[in-house]
Amino acid sequence: FDFGSDSDEEELVKIEYDEKNSGPGHSSSSNTLECDIVIKTGGTPKTQFRPRYNIVSDFAKQHWCEMQLLYSLAPDIILLRAIPGEEVKLEESEEAKVVKGKGTDIHLQRELEVQVPVEVVVKTKEDKWAVKLINLQHAVKAFCRGQRLAREVPVFGCPFGGNIFVFGIIDELRYDPDKHEVEISELKTRRSSHPPKKGQQEKDKYQVNLYAQLFNELVSGSANKDIVVTHLGLNRDIKLSSSVMKHVQDVATDKASEACTFGDLLETVLSQVQSLCCITRSRVEYIRQEDKSEILVLDFLLDTERLQQMFTEQCRWWRGERGTTGVEIEDCWKCDHCQFAPLCEWRDYMADKLSKTKKK
Ligand code: SF4
Repeated sequence: FDFGSDSDEEELVKIEYDEKNSGPGHSSSSNTLECDIVIKTGGTPKTQFRPRYNIVSDFAKQHWCEMQLLYSLAPDIILLRAIPGEEVKLEESEEAKVVKGKGTDIHLQRELEVQVPVEVVVKTKEDKWAVKLINLQHAVKAFCRGQRLAREVPVFGCPFGGNIFVFGIIDELRYDPDKHEVEISELKTRRSSHPPKKGQQEKDKYQVNLYAQLFNELVSGSANKDIVVTHLGLNRDIKLSSSVMKHVQDVATDKASEACTFGDLLETVLSQVQSLCCITRSRVEYIRQEDKSEILVLDFLLDTERLQQMFTEQCRWWRGERGTTGVEIEDCWKCDHCQFAPLCEWRDYMADKLSKTKKK
């Protein structure tokens, strides 16, 4: 999947087929710090880094540390703080890259248990989004046929009626047709066999909450087609290219098989997803990369009120309505694992603040 580019260039995009079954910051909500750092970046974070849409992991990273998110989006900012002539290493360690690679392999293996990805050539940005819609439609159809499991399910929309469009891919949805219940599950892999710290768990739960919110808003019909085409700058009348149309016809139901424009497909899929029920159960599963043994399973209640509060505060940062904050004192252990720690402005700011407090 492409996450950030809105390029019209021809490229290959993944599409899911259920071959086995049917064919193809820092927590800003509790912003208890007295002030935050304003870094001039020549525009708001939104206009500079995510002009069209954000991805769910943007907000999960922001929940972990907003300053770290900013530095990862704009490494030039932190490089300006380097002492001239001094060597700066901000690269992820080789070890970290290897860990990431293994995690990706495990996700792919799980996906292959239920579906086989195929490649589709897309020619326009409408084609690209059509593929995402087909993947969502594929999950809807699976549940309607009585299947209980769907993996890698795309979700999107403007949470809480705001003006920031967010896209994400849910790891796993489980449907219980008897209870008419949907559960969301997120898989996290770890190198260590120890459970993650509370801060990591909170970040992961926040991410799942946001996925669930997007899904539930699709089911309730809040994410309408106007929101999609307006935010993404798409043309609803554009005809889908022949390679995408082939997959529309393979996956779609009768009505959707008639879709030939992006707008037709969008309308059909948004209407079909409303036949599902909202997510009411949520979990995060941590497994060890080495042997895939279970480390911890967190079953938790979705907290929409808290999510809204935190998400709204995060969006203020994206719109440039406030400055950037780093971790709070009790979370400074996060800095021990941060590649930006040696040059981080927030750490200097907090050290200065602490020394002034001590003097008083
Ligand atoms: Fe955030 Fe700490 Fe990294 Fe600075 S050093 S970016 S405060 S985690």
